[in-house]
Amino acid sequence: MKGLSSDALFDQILEGDIQALSAAITLVESKNDGHSKEAQQLIQQCLPHSGNAIRVGITGVPGVGKSSFIEAFGKVLTDCGKKVAVLAIDPSSSISGGSILGDKTRMANLVTNENVFIRPSAAGETLGGVARKTRESVILCEAAGFDIILIETVGVGQSETVVKSMVDFFLLLMLSGAGDELQGIKKGIMEMADALVITKADGDNVRAANRASQEYRNAMHLFPPNENEWIPQVFTCSAFEGTNVARVFEVIQSFENQVGINGSFEKNRREQDKKWLRETLNEMLLRAFYNNEYLGKAFQEAEEQMAKGEATSFQAAEQLFELYRKHGKI
Ligand code: GDP
Repeated sequence: MKGLSSDALFDQILEGDIQALSAAITLVESKNDGHSKEAQQLIQQCLPHSGNAIRVGITGVPGVGKSSFIEAFGKVLTDCGKKVAVLAIDPSSSISGGSILGDKTRMANLVTNENVFIRPSAAGETLGGVARKTRESVILCEAAGFDIILIETVGVGQSETVVKSMVDFFLLLMLSGAGDELQGIKKGIMEMADALVITKADGDNVRAANRASQEYRNAMHLFPPNENEWIPQVFTCSAFEGTNVARVFEVIQSFENQVGINGSFEKNRREQDKKWLRETLNEMLLRAFYNNEYLGKAFQEAEEQMAKGEATSFQAAEQLFELYRKHGKI
């Protein structure tokens, strides 16, 4: 793909060319300034062709069965004629070398499906960095004609909040038989879920899964109603036996239908855009501030002043900010 102009890449992306899509995401992920410019131009071109997919976030602790579920779910979707993109947000990949979607043995069948595009999380990035790149990748995937974008994340940190803020539908996978504490899932994450699915409901585990499902259903009833009037669904599934995997798709479709009709679907996307505008600006301002040459030395001096007891942290911050207002270039 090297040497291809962004116009040529754009044309190929619109034709659904996977290699071009891959190359474009590589540009988005690149730290090279020239690449970033090219990537921005591409995203700009793709933007009018994006927005038509349904964006689904999938989270759950490691071992809950995310990749097995996505493998089975991806098959259901492609059997219905859908094109599916699977992206991941995994800030831990910089530390662990990639715990999700890292190796191709996960979702081995899906990898070879020509209607599926799988892309691991960009490594060596902060959560904010990965999130921005994932959002941009979503635009590229949509322009390439993907109907459903699955964004996978490990449900143990802040990354699910970030995923929630870029998807239409949020699916939480849970194990039966393990307490919530054990699963590290906080109430806040359960509250974000549009569907909560108990995995591995097969063999000896069916009864426990049904019981867990009932318990979670009761618990979810206690949450305040969603503004979009959607009532989160709770049920069990087995990726191995394929039980209820298709039901997840049905639930997503009825969600899309319901919140589409009452206007919440579009409203949510507009709110998300506003949020991301602010986030991006925050990031830019912080970078401009901390990378400012003039301030570097003043920063050190302020720290010394504080050490000597000559300034409080608040005074030092005010001084630095004043300096930035006088001399800062964004
Ligand atoms: P992830 O870490 O969340 O991606 O989980 P995996 O999909 O890798 O699954 C973790 C373990 O659970 C593996 O040993 C799977 O074989 C097993 N597993 C996943 N789905 C099912 C299922 O539907 N039924 C049963 N019995 N085991 C499952």
